[in-house]
Amino acid sequence: MNQLHTKSALAIRNLFVQGEISAVEIVSHYLERIHKYNPDLQAFLKIYDDQALKKAALLDEKRAQKKPLGQMAGLPIGIKDNTHIQGEITTCGSKFLEHYRAPFSATAVRLMLEEDAIIMGKLNLDEFSMGASSENSAYMTTKNPWNTECTPGGSSGGSAAAISARLIALATGSDTGGSIRQPASFCGISGFKPTYGRVSRYGLVAFGSSLDQIGPLGARVKDIALMMETIGRNCPKDPTSLKKSSEEILTSFSTDMKGKVIGVPHKLLEDLKGEVKTDFQDSLKRMESLGATLVDVDLDILRYSIAVYYILATAEASTNLARFDGIRHGIRTPQAASFEEVYKYSRDSGFGQEVKKRILLGTFVLSSGHRDEFYRKAQKIRYLIAEAFHNAFNKTDFIAMPTCPVTAFALGSFPDPFEMYLQDSLTIPASLAGLPAISVPSGIDSKNKPMSLQIIGPKLQDAAVLQAGYAFEQTAPLYKTLPKGFL
Ligand code: GLN
Repeated sequence: MNQLHTKSALAIRNLFVQGEISAVEIVSHYLERIHKYNPDLQAFLKIYDDQALKKAALLDEKRAQKKPLGQMAGLPIGIKDNTHIQGEITTCGSKFLEHYRAPFSATAVRLMLEEDAIIMGKLNLDEFSMGASSENSAYMTTKNPWNTECTPGGSSGGSAAAISARLIALATGSDTGGSIRQPASFCGISGFKPTYGRVSRYGLVAFGSSLDQIGPLGARVKDIALMMETIGRNCPKDPTSLKKSSEEILTSFSTDMKGKVIGVPHKLLEDLKGEVKTDFQDSLKRMESLGATLVDVDLDILRYSIAVYYILATAEASTNLARFDGIRHGIRTPQAASFEEVYKYSRDSGFGQEVKKRILLGTFVLSSGHRDEFYRKAQKIRYLIAEAFHNAFNKTDFIAMPTCPVTAFALGSFPDPFEMYLQDSLTIPASLAGLPAISVPSGIDSKNKPMSLQIIGPKLQDAAVLQAGYAFEQTAPLYKTLPKGFL
């Protein structure tokens, strides 16, 4: 089985369940790949060799005893390192949490373990998920397997790079403003941000609580659906969790888009350039060839998304990160001589530049005197953005746009971080409106960099969005093309 990693996660699970391959063989195959490629890629913050092999042996035993096997049985997965695994370190890519051991597992992690998935390690990210290039990690800079001089995107850059190089079969990411979809797009794989509340946030370290969602990254849409069936369910420990049981998504996949109407916000996208533009036009034609009808929709208000997001997300971040004070959480600096200095110096040495900047920005927009001017105004525009989507969905089933206006950029090429914020102009809108959105690879440009189509659906239409993503994926199954050097 030396080409095991080219198979779908579903196929690997079936091979295991049917007794064609043992879990120890699966894990050994992937561990070999991890140790071969990770030193260059720097996708993993931590590799769980022993635990993964131990769990695999237990699963082999379970299968030998003919006990029922879970939906993700034998699948090697990775977890973004802002999500808790009981007893393991959760760094969030921050020096502050270098030694922080999670006292409990995230619900999403628990659900996957209950379905017999095997966790291979923790994946790199921008510190506290703030960034779009994974360069804000305090530990390492992850590389893009398609071009190791380039960023894998972020903040779930470790997850995307590890899937792209097939070092694991599936990974979790988290998406506050694009952190699953943008790295998926840069690394030529698929990524899905569920409807807000569909996946429990319990055990996910909070960034912007009204936006954060855990979601899957995988080489194929069906694999992502498999993870969603497992983790997309109600959780009483997250007050924003939707009161819905899990959905059967995989049973109703088809390549037919007949009768479906896709909205395209032409005016909003008028600045698209180069190959991203031509690839997007081509993607729309492919959707039409599947039977879908295209209509123009007015989503001009989405132009304000970045401004709104960087007010609301930083406001929420400044509140959420207040708990990292060197007293309850985080490394306490020995330099402090007084109680106040514990806060001051611990936070000063624990947080990186970008995190500090966002805390300051968030504190500013929430400060009395500025709250109405910034925070309240941004809340109002967020509402208008959600309303514009709602109106568009009165006459459409889905909205289509590229995931990102650009392809993977060179590492270190953004001296001005504000410019990097523009990366997320097309992913932030679905986050602000709490909508399900998938990124599916649509093409490879002349510089050998992947591009993607984003499909956004109405609230709770997660299954429909995944199915549309699958239909589109069949028009150009780019999962068959692995980045050179990682075959
Ligand atoms: N790149 C965006 C930011 O820097 C989005 C991050 C995310 O979704 N976690 O905030």
